Amino acid sequence: MTRDYQTFLKQQAYIDGQWCLADNAQVLPVYNPFDQSLVGHVPNMGGSETTRAIDAAAAALVSWSKLTALVRADYLLKWHDLILTNKAALATLMTLEQGKPLAEAVGEIEFGASFIRWFAEEGRRTGGDIIPTEKDNLRYLVIKQPIGVVAAITPWNFPTAMLTRKCAPALAAGCTMVIKPSELTPFSALALAALAEQAGIPKGVLNIVMGDAKAIGDVLCGDARVRKLTFTGSTNIGKLLYRQCAGTVKKLSLELGGNAPVLVFDDADLDKAVAQVMAAKFRNSGQTCVCANRIFVQTGIYDRFVAAMTVAVQNLSLGNGLSVPPVLIGPLINEAAITKIQALVDQAVSKGATVVYGGHVDPLGRQFYTPTLIVNADVSMDIAQDEIFGPVAVIYRFETEAQAITWANSVPVGLAAYCFTANIGRTWRVSEQLAFGIVSVNTGLFSNATTPFGGVKESGLGREGSKYGIEDYLDIKYICLDIN
Ligand code: ADP
Repeated sequence: MTRDYQTFLKQQAYIDGQWCLADNAQVLPVYNPFDQSLVGHVPNMGGSETTRAIDAAAAALVSWSKLTALVRADYLLKWHDLILTNKAALATLMTLEQGKPLAEAVGEIEFGASFIRWFAEEGRRTGGDIIPTEKDNLRYLVIKQPIGVVAAITPWNFPTAMLTRKCAPALAAGCTMVIKPSELTPFSALALAALAEQAGIPKGVLNIVMGDAKAIGDVLCGDARVRKLTFTGSTNIGKLLYRQCAGTVKKLSLELGGNAPVLVFDDADLDKAVAQVMAAKFRNSGQTCVCANRIFVQTGIYDRFVAAMTVAVQNLSLGNGLSVPPVLIGPLINEAAITKIQALVDQAVSKGATVVYGGHVDPLGRQFYTPTLIVNADVSMDIAQDEIFGPVAVIYRFETEAQAITWANSVPVGLAAYCFTANIGRTWRVSEQLAFGIVSVNTGLFSNATTPFGGVKESGLGREGSKYGIEDYLDIKYICLDIN
């Protein structure tokens, strides 16, 4: 495995099979979150380049949508294999621009590639229906067709997987795409485009633009040829895009904010609960939309849980994601993240919460936050209402199952929830009552390509991964046939 990431450091956008600069030749810098050093530049594009990318996707749609699913699957599997062959280089590039520890970056490349394989296979199973007739002369058929040109807007926390989770079902279904990755982490997306090119995926099928997010977003939402927008990011921007897409009545998939609760009951396996909550909390330095945001612990296990968590949090190692021996926690994406986290911690403390460990910027650097454990929190604090998106674990004490469920459901979002218990009846009761799209029982890691990821309420629309994920990229057509 080579870690020579330079081959994949593409500093141009990818439109209609061409690597290109912005029309006005402006560029944006991309910095390494570890030490704020320059990783490279990308074109600072806007509306006109985005329109050209849509032109290319619309032109390519004609032939790409006509290919058999089997032929499209072959392209996708080739792309998948190239990604895995180059995973060390891709992961290194990801750590440089995103900051996550290299082992997590390798894990994300594998996870990201798994969606391509899954949907290459799943694309071959998008059959329709024949519905029993109600009239002798008529036959009712249902076929599924690609929805058309798809726009994707993706975030910085999983720069590869959030992209493949969208591209794989779209391309497998026969759609073409215009993608706008986060300007904070564009190189992972461009590296994927370079490998798609190597895999022979035809020009125009996959286009990548970046630069002025608002200008690009306005064009993607406003152009009637784009029939679907798929977005992962903040709830506020998701709501904005939802409104912007109303004018052309696009289909939407939105993966928005989380605020995941964890319910640890007295009968839970303590060691397992602590290990799994640590994983659910501190993965990607706490910067995922399914990170444990509110840890509710029942009173009988509370003291033992807090004691074990204190040790576990103190043992987390911080540093450069590329360092050897490896670290568990990298830098946060930018200083704005640090400022937001500090404000949440300070407000919680001012309202009576206790910092057991951490609670401040780490001496290692201005984008590092010391892994933190907070107790005596209550659900009225901002830290319970907002997504922390950082390495801060906050513990709340509860008495009854009903109280924990009420607290868990008391937020406007509903993506993932976690429950730790040995009681099978409670597992079932709690899982049914939690108003979340995902309930993870006795484990902190649940994501994979074969299962449906997505939320309810303000966490968004649609599901990614699984047999359901491809449906979001297909239209249903009913054909009524008179056989006489
Ligand atoms: P975060 O706060 O996690 O960065 P955002 O929702 O701001 O989440 O960003 C997610 C993605 O949305 C990024 O690619 C970003 O550039 C993009 N984005 C931000 N503002 C807009 C906008 N007005 N229109 C379209 N995309 C946007």
